[in-house]
Amino acid sequence: MKTNRIGLVAAAAVLALTASACGSDDGGSGGGDTGGGNGGGDSIKIGIKFDQPGLGLKQGNDYTGMDVDMAKYVAGELGYEEDAIEWVQAPSAQRENLISTGQVQLIFATYSITDERKEKVSFAGPYFVAGQDLLVRADDSSITGPDTLDGKKLCSVTGSTSAQKVKDQVPGVNLQEFGTYSECVAALVSNGVDALTTDDTILAGYASQPQYEGKLKVVGQTFSEERYGVGLKKDDTELCQQVTDAINKMIEDGSWQKAVDDNLGKAGYTPGAGNPPTPDACS
Ligand code: GLU
Repeated sequence: MKTNRIGLVAAAAVLALTASACGSDDGGSGGGDTGGGNGGGDSIKIGIKFDQPGLGLKQGNDYTGMDVDMAKYVAGELGYEEDAIEWVQAPSAQRENLISTGQVQLIFATYSITDERKEKVSFAGPYFVAGQDLLVRADDSSITGPDTLDGKKLCSVTGSTSAQKVKDQVPGVNLQEFGTYSECVAALVSNGVDALTTDDTILAGYASQPQYEGKLKVVGQTFSEERYGVGLKKDDTELCQQVTDAINKMIEDGSWQKAVDDNLGKAGYTPGAGNPPTPDACS
C-alpha cells in the first residue's frame, strides 16, 4: 500500500517534470508570451473553403490559398501561432451557422459582406473585392454574359450571393444548386450544365488547374461587387477591431500584395478596381 503510494507519487513527479519541460520548450520555440494575451484559449478555429484552388484548398494536411494566407496573418496578429489554427470546412450555406454556434471563431471563405448576413454575423473588412462572373467550356462562344443565359443550364452553390444574384437578374434561368463549386465544375466538364457562376477569383482558380487546361474559360464580364469580409460573432466589436487592425497592417507592410500574388497570380488573375480595399469601421 505504502510502496504503491510512493510509486504513484514518484510517477506523478516524473510526469510533472516531463510536462513542465515540454511546456517550457513550447514556450521557447513558440515565442511564448505572444499567445498569452489572446484570451481565446490555446487554439483558434477558422473556417475556410477546402475545394477552391488559389483561395482555400485542402490537400492532405496542407492548406493553401489567399484566404488561408490572410487567415494565418490575422491569427498571428491575434497571438496565435500557425500550429494553433484548426482549419474547419465552411461551405457557403453553413457559414452563418458555424459562427453563431461557436464552431469557428473566424471565417475566411470568399465570404461577401451583405446586409442580410449581417443580421446573423458581423464582418471585419473588406480585405478583398471580387466580382461575379461565368465559367464555360472553352469551345462555347454562345455565353458571353448574364443576358445570354436564357435556356442554358447554369450551376451555382446554395447559400451564395452568386445563386441569389443570378435568380434575381435572370428569372428564366435553369439553375442547378450544389453544395460546393467543385461539384459545379465537374458538372460543367461532363456537359451536365453549360456554365458555372460565382466570383471571378474562384473561377480563375478552377480554370488554371492543369486538369482543366484548354477545357474551361472565364467569360470575363463581371456583374457584381463581392466585398470579402472576415466573418465573426455578431456584435463582437473588439474582435472586429483587432481583425481590422490586422488587415490594415497586412495591406501596409506588403503581406496583402504577396498573398494575392502568390495565390491568384498563378491563375493569371489581377485584382480589379477597389483593391486593396479600405476596411469598414466596426460598429
Ligand atoms: N462571395 C460569394 C458569397 O459569399 C460567392 C462565393 C462563395 O459562395 O463563397 O456568397
